[in-house]
Order: sequence, then C-alpha cells, then structure tokens
Amino acid sequence: MGYAITKKYIRHGNARPGHKLTGPIFGVAHDTGNPGSTAHGNRNYFNSQQPSASAHTFIDDKYILEIIPLDEKAYHVIYNVTTDNRRYGDDANDAAIGVELCYGGNINFDEAYARYVWYFAYLCDRYGWDPDEDITGHSKLDPERKTDPENALNQNGVSFQQFINDVKRELDGEGIASSTDDELLQKGDNGSKVEQLQEDLMAAGEELPRFGADGDYGSETVEAVKAFQARHNLTVDGIAGPNTMKKLKEVIKDMTQQKPNESHKEAWEWAQEKGLLNGKDPRKPITREQMSTVMMRLYKKLK
Ligand SMILES: [Zn+2]
Repeated sequence: MGYAITKKYIRHGNARPGHKLTGPIFGVAHDTGNPGSTAHGNRNYFNSQQPSASAHTFIDDKYILEIIPLDEKAYHVIYNVTTDNRRYGDDANDAAIGVELCYGGNINFDEAYARYVWYFAYLCDRYGWDPDEDITGHSKLDPERKTDPENALNQNGVSFQQFINDVKRELDGEGIASSTDDELLQKGDNGSKVEQLQEDLMAAGEELPRFGADGDYGSETVEAVKAFQARHNLTVDGIAGPNTMKKLKEVIKDMTQQKPNESHKEAWEWAQEKGLLNGKDPRKPITREQMSTVMMRLYKKLK
C-alpha cells in the first residue's frame, strides 16, 4: 500500500539554506532522540528556531512530513566523520537524504515504523538505491557519538538489519509508486489555497465572522477548522490535512445536491406551496436581501 507524503517546507535559514544536494546518492536513517515529539512538532521547531542542523523528512504515526525539498541539503551528519566519504565518496550532508523516525510518548510505533519503512522503499524506488548498500544509519556513520536509529528501533524489538529487510520486502511488493502528494494547510499559511479553504469552510456552514476568506490562516480559521472537524468526527487539531480536505469536499458536494435535508423537507415544501420560495437551491445560503423578499411575501400574505 502507499502513504501520502506531506510536503510542508520550512522557511529559509540556518536549517535550510537552500543549497543544492548532489544526487541524492544514499539515505541516512535517524530517530529524533526525543521521545514523543511528533513530525509537526519537529517541523515547528526547525522552522522557528532554525538550528544549524536539520533533516529532510520526519515520520510519525500519522504523517510523512518533508520539511526540506529532497533536492536541497539538510544537515544531519556532522562533517567531521569520514565514514560517509569512504563509503559513498561524499559527505552525507551534501549527498544524502536524512529521514527521522518519531517515536515514544503517544506515537504508535507500528504505524510510524510502517511509514518509515515504506518511505525508504519509496526513496529506493525513486532514486534507484539498493537498500543493502544505499541506506545507512546515523550510528553507522558516526558510531562514537550516535545510537540512532537503533535506539528507537531496538526499544521496539527491531534490529537495523530487520529494518533493511522490511524495506526490501516493501520494495518487492506492489504499490510503491502509488503515493500521492497531499498538501496540508495550517496556521501561519497564506495565499490562494488558504482562501479557497476558507470559502469551502463557509460553504460547509462554518463561520469566519471577522476576517472571512482573507487568505490568512489565523486563529479564526483554526477555530473554524476545529469546529468542522468536531462536527464531522475527525481529529480536532485545526490543521487542514488530507482527511479534513476530503471531508470538506464531500460535505460541499452533498450540500449542493438539489435535495432538501430530511429534517427541513416539510417546511421546504410548505414554503414552495405558499409561494415564499421558488423551489431552487434548497441547500444554498440566503442573502439578507433575499431574506427580506421572503419576509415581505409572507407579510403580504398575512395582511
Ligand atoms: Zn541522527
């Protein structure tokens, strides 16, 4: 099976200077070393703090989150080590993709691990890597200082070799290419995609009373997204990810269907019978001027 890859790049800075990567010719498996920290939590940290270290992709039990484009350098293995130069003829920072496994805390290891394995298989497929040769671990390159990703894997009964074997099995299976690139919107984003989201939210009956569809994903939009998620039994996090976007489209599609909702059917038919409404667009919002017309028709009838 395939997973969605969410591309949500951090801004330029120390963690993402934007230098072009060579290749990529190999991949380095890491774990975050910070139990319970999520993919988005890590992204927020790198985006705001801009440390002189980074990795391309963070994976937890819900997201495969690319925070640095795969054709740009990330800084995940110290330049001093020489194992990367000996094995691959280049520094990991200059020629490798760095992938971090999020683990511990509330993160479901099996779900996160399945995505981690799948993502490495995806990279092997995309770049023509051999899992045995072209995937290494941070600890293999920098054994004196680093214990990842074995640290997280071993805690959950998985050896590094088992991990490589799982990648090979995934690669031999079907559907590596079936990944879809879903984009995700969240607080702080702006632009036409946010504006469309806001229009969709309002069309789905949520309220943006102060700012409307202004193209800025601020607190008001977060609250509207949360309200929508709660109403439709989705995870309430205020982030418009693949599930929320999908549900929003479904709800709007449903609303624009030319049938009144069951609970309003009697009143709808009555209003047509009395000539108050023209019988079109049962689930579209009404403007104040249209409302005035309806009220005036009713008033004249009552007189
Ligand atoms: Zn590492």
